Amino acid sequence: MFAIDNTLAQGTQKPSELVPSRYALQLGELDVLVVSDGVLPLPTSTMATNAAPADLSAWLDHMFMPQEAFDWPLNVLVVRSGEQTILVDAGLGGQYAGFPRAGQFPQRLESAGISLASVTDVIITHMHMDHVGGLLVEDVKQRLNPNVRIHVAAAEVEFWGTPDFSRTTMPTPVPNVLRTTATRFLEEYRDKLRIFKDKYEVAPGVVVRLTGGHTPGHSVVDLASGGERLMFAGDAMFPVGFDHPDWHNGFEHDPVESAKVRLGLFRELAETGGLLVASHLPFPSVGRVAADGDAFRWVPVIWDF
Ligand SMILES: [Zn+2]
Repeated sequence: MFAIDNTLAQGTQKPSELVPSRYALQLGELDVLVVSDGVLPLPTSTMATNAAPADLSAWLDHMFMPQEAFDWPLNVLVVRSGEQTILVDAGLGGQYAGFPRAGQFPQRLESAGISLASVTDVIITHMHMDHVGGLLVEDVKQRLNPNVRIHVAAAEVEFWGTPDFSRTTMPTPVPNVLRTTATRFLEEYRDKLRIFKDKYEVAPGVVVRLTGGHTPGHSVVDLASGGERLMFAGDAMFPVGFDHPDWHNGFEHDPVESAKVRLGLFRELAETGGLLVASHLPFPSVGRVAADGDAFRWVPVIWDF
């Protein structure tokens, strides 16, 4: 079993932060841990590229959010199933100027008592820098088990051979950095990749499923055990997506398809009542989805803290 909970084990390590920034829960037989990698400041314009500026501005006011820029949360998931420890995405890493508050997951994982060497599998929802960047940090590469398996969709690997940015709306340097990061990730980890087509059971109760949309190989992770469910939805939804599932995000390589995928997953979650965790929902991002006319409502769980 994991020695993880939401408190620091006595006598093991001094807390280096006031807030542990990790949240543990049990899902049937599965141990689940959400770890915050920190936050990314981004211009608000990226969250609604097809909405009238006045509508976005009104929504930001309604949400008590600043008009120009906002801190995008960044969550990573860890799952223990039997003998396997599975990391879902790896955060941004601390190597990018302009994002000094991200790249925290490796030390937060260690302070939760989980060594990187104990990770048997990594699932990559998609190859954007805020999901694979953490694996390019030298110290992380050194500490990973040399036999680690990295699961990624065939469509994702193929896409980054000749990535299409024609339908995205990103701040200027971003497409280039995304391209070089994905290329480096493929170069450095090619021999560890376990490529799946549509769906793959990584461990009992842990299934990765291709959705496409955000990127052609974007995938979600479905956890199921003891009659309970949790979906890690990657970048299929952002905070604004509940009120406006049809608003396009600037980082979506196919915004129309992304909106379709988002609606489908929201409907699925509203129907099953399963838990949702997504990369960019506010930490700890554990909640449920309720249908609300043409929109959806985010229903956070009560922290068991
Ligand atoms: Zn992302």
